[in-house]
Amino acid sequence: MHILVTNDDGVLAPGLLALAHEMRGLGAVTVLAPDRNWSASGHVKTLDRPLRVREVRLADGSTALSTDGAPSDCVALAILQLLPEKVDLVVSGINPNANLGHDVTYSGTVTAAMEAAIWGLPGVAISLDSPENHLGQLDYAPAARVARRVVSAVIENGLPKGILLNVNVPYLLDDELKGMLVTRQGLRVYRDTLVRREDPRGRPYYWIGGDAPTGVPEEGTDFGALKAGYVSITPLHLDLTAYAIQQELSAWKW
Ligand code: MN
Repeated sequence: MHILVTNDDGVLAPGLLALAHEMRGLGAVTVLAPDRNWSASGHVKTLDRPLRVREVRLADGSTALSTDGAPSDCVALAILQLLPEKVDLVVSGINPNANLGHDVTYSGTVTAAMEAAIWGLPGVAISLDSPENHLGQLDYAPAARVARRVVSAVIENGLPKGILLNVNVPYLLDDELKGMLVTRQGLRVYRDTLVRREDPRGRPYYWIGGDAPTGVPEEGTDFGALKAGYVSITPLHLDLTAYAIQQELSAWKW
């Protein structure tokens, strides 16, 4: 079992280290991650410039690869035989913030797992629902142990082709976690506001600001599970077709 570990926070992010550490208990691990933060970069394919790959040393002394490409580029590079050994499974994370509902289209963490699904490999995205105003270092160890349980179940059962798992873990200690729930995407409530300021030369610039998103804590959803203290596991696929409206649209006079 050859597991590719990547993320969207950059190769030196502590969440990646914790994840790679747990994955080594399940198989051979290659870490290939972006050399900088790509959070909220969406699904990217870099075509207009070359991608560089270099070796880096992680805080635990292990060797990793970093690129100047996006998380999804990392997955494509690895699958397109940058690595001598075939990749069997892709795990992305651990992102320091939850990826719920509509977040999945923004998230570099999730789109890395989507890239795996495109290539017919199982992909798992892991995000930690850390408290909004957390100061100091986050403890990724419980979420990394959850990741190990989830990936181990994926290895044992297999995922149908084209399916990825979006896993979100509450920021709780191991014995405080209530369990695992398979969920559907909930509804995020974004609270973005546009901040307009002036640069030192009097020219305006804009910044998307506002408070962190909340969500609708409905039962059965990813957001609902997290709020109730459960790990949320949402199976996703890339077919975004709105089937419910297909027939109605067909009746339109085009
Ligand atoms: Mn991130």
